[in-house]
Amino acid sequence: MDPGLDGPRTHVSVRFVRAVRPCGSSVRFVRAFARAVRTCAPLVRFVRTNRDPRDHAVPLPAPPASPRRTATTESDGNQLKPAPFDYIAPRRVADVLALLADEEREAKIVAGGQSLIPMLSMRLARPEVLVDITRVPGLDRLAVDAAGALHIGAAVRQSTVADDPAVRDGWPLLAAAIGHIGHPQIRHRGTVCGSLAHHDPAAELPTAALALDARFVVDGPRGPRTVAAEDFFVATFQTAVEPDELLTEVVLGPQTARGWAFEELTRRHGDFATVGVAVLLERADASGTVRDARVVFCGAGPVPVRLPAAEQALIGTDVDARAVAAAAVAARDQLAPADDIHATARYRREGAAHLLARACTTAWERCS
Ligand SMILES: Cc1cc2nc3c(=O)[nH]c(=O)nc-3n(C[C@H](O)[C@H](O)[C@H](O)COP(=O)(O)OP(=O)(O)OC[C@H]3O[C@@H](n4cnc5c(N)ncnc54)[C@H](O)[C@@H]3O)c2cc1C
Repeated sequence: MDPGLDGPRTHVSVRFVRAVRPCGSSVRFVRAFARAVRTCAPLVRFVRTNRDPRDHAVPLPAPPASPRRTATTESDGNQLKPAPFDYIAPRRVADVLALLADEEREAKIVAGGQSLIPMLSMRLARPEVLVDITRVPGLDRLAVDAAGALHIGAAVRQSTVADDPAVRDGWPLLAAAIGHIGHPQIRHRGTVCGSLAHHDPAAELPTAALALDARFVVDGPRGPRTVAAEDFFVATFQTAVEPDELLTEVVLGPQTARGWAFEELTRRHGDFATVGVAVLLERADASGTVRDARVVFCGAGPVPVRLPAAEQALIGTDVDARAVAAAAVAARDQLAPADDIHATARYRREGAAHLLARACTTAWERCS
């Protein structure tokens, strides 16, 4: 920001010019000049002492504390919403694991903080130590290996993945799924691995990961291991990652299916999906029928739900109206979502059927 355009400094120059401008003679000008300097001196001092050395912006004085911002009722003088915690940002995976293994103090990983920080603020989580993994060298790796697999490290932000040309080209389903997450601000901070480890059943990334047969690399006191996508998501907000383990990276093989679509139903733009679906269609050849299909839903159960009946309804067809209707009926009849405050189970089933029909058509157009 140009320091001359905003803040107290503008105020200084405006007052100075106003003080000097009406002067006709040079004597009156000199007197007015001296008066203007005296008038503006306190403001100039304020600007100098409050100047931020990192940029030219002049910070405004802090507003008085609002009682609504200090939600704590504790009498310890703590003015923060979360319960007290220590913050540590290690530089090695081994140090992260050592902190997680400490039985004396409960430690929790923080990556993008977009799910954890709200939970801390609502005191739904009260870890004693927050372990920030975003400064561990190597965890920010986003790369395609010699075999064509995509590696997404634990500290890689969602927007970094979605904006990467190799991802947009080779894994368009993943990029599209990320595009449905919240808003740009959320995606700039939130990590792909954080969303997978957090595992909200309405989240887009677990569904995309299952559709794309992701592999999860987990490290911990018992050594590193790899978990397949169908074994990773255990229950709502629960995965195969143990409390003393770190999801170091997620690996996606090449997206061979050229036909893809990610559709979701939300009440408002940016909300979590009421229900959503990822579809992958692989065509036998340029004029052939569907050789392989993958249909996975979010918001339809405690974990991402793959629907083989819908896949079978599409395989061997050219995704004509009858095949699409059969797949939609399978979704309506076989999904078993729950009623909750956002939608009834019936609404979700109907929505899932409509989304699937639309996604099948889109995916087929893309692979034709
Ligand atoms: C306003 C808003 C709207 C949102 N909308 C959506 C949406 O539409 N769809 C959606 O999917 N998400 C949405 N989110 C959540 C967002 O995607 C989060 O970024 C994501 O759920 C968690 O990623 P994170 O990096 O922020 O993880 P954090 O919040 O830092 O961590 C989340 C949890 O995962 C654990 N964790 C994180 N990384 C690892 C790791 N590498 N290994 C083991 N455990 C780990 C943490 O300990 C914590 O328990 C929204 C969030 C906000 C604030």
